[in-house]
Amino acid sequence: MIGFIGLGIMGGSMAENLVEKGFELVVHNRTKDKAEALMKKGAKWADSPKNVAEQAEVVFTMLANPQVVEEVALGENGFLNHLAEGNLWVDCSTVDPSFSRKMAAEAAKRGVRFIDAPVTGSRVPAKQAELVFLVGGDLEDLSEVKPMLQAMGKEISYQGEVGKGTTMKVIINLMLAQSMAAFAEAVSLGEALGLEKETVVNTLLNGPTTAPFLKGKKDKVMTGDFSADFPLEHMQKDLQLVAQAAFEHNIALPIANVTKEAYMQAKQKGLGKQDFSSIYKLFSEKNN
Ligand code: NAP
Repeated sequence: MIGFIGLGIMGGSMAENLVEKGFELVVHNRTKDKAEALMKKGAKWADSPKNVAEQAEVVFTMLANPQVVEEVALGENGFLNHLAEGNLWVDCSTVDPSFSRKMAAEAAKRGVRFIDAPVTGSRVPAKQAELVFLVGGDLEDLSEVKPMLQAMGKEISYQGEVGKGTTMKVIINLMLAQSMAAFAEAVSLGEALGLEKETVVNTLLNGPTTAPFLKGKKDKVMTGDFSADFPLEHMQKDLQLVAQAAFEHNIALPIANVTKEAYMQAKQKGLGKQDFSSIYKLFSEKNN
């Protein structure tokens, strides 16, 4: 039996793909409503993370941030004390590398194996089982869960020992956050200088200076419908994780830190639950 904890934008679709491909699943989410569709497809509901661990040999987590992962693993009714020795925890949440290593050590104390397997790809790739898993951990442990990862994704990219999956993930999100913010600033400036928004957007997207993923954000920027594929509050969190990792290794990241604060300003303006491309609103909305 596979356990799956965290049925948000990403986890909900990942769990659905597992069920649809025939895996037996026991699921838990803080908000039970999000499990209803899965239960109709055959997933079993567990009342707590602890109750998931009591039934599963492999537990996947896809949760908001390190604090939440720690609470769900080690807090009251957490799952880690209840997973049988030799069983496996796969954390797909985006957390910082030190935190992954800390959780691996907590798991090891209990004889539980641990893999960090964060993903790239957003709402649609999650639904279509086209995620890319960035994996850190033991190769034998990975081979055990490969069929499950293949049910949810199109590629498994092995990065090295525990913590290397989340290391690669925070680096990728550093690029995503900065590229999005730079594009948003450029479009806002173009408009302020009198260019048509559509002209600026199309010209930038058709040229060599923009990251390929930005084409997928065009509709959001053009229509102003920023319903979330990747919530801005998670991107702000990821930049905080980047800053933490850089601090631990004595590395200066001046541009990333300015970008981090811009995302925080956007969050303070109430954009946290909107897509991270809504950073555009921070630059484009005039206060006077
Ligand atoms: P989401 O929709 O906000 O889901 C977050 C999950 O965490 C939900 O299951 C939520 O439960 C749970 N959670 C939040 N606070 C909690 C708490 N205090 N106690 C217990 N559970 C709590 O986010 P998501 O987009 O699926 O992202 C999940 C993870 O994947 C994050 O680490 C994110 O950075 C990463 N990620 C996201 C994307 C993307 O494009 N969306 C892509 C790659 C990686 P409720 O349902 O009860 O709120």
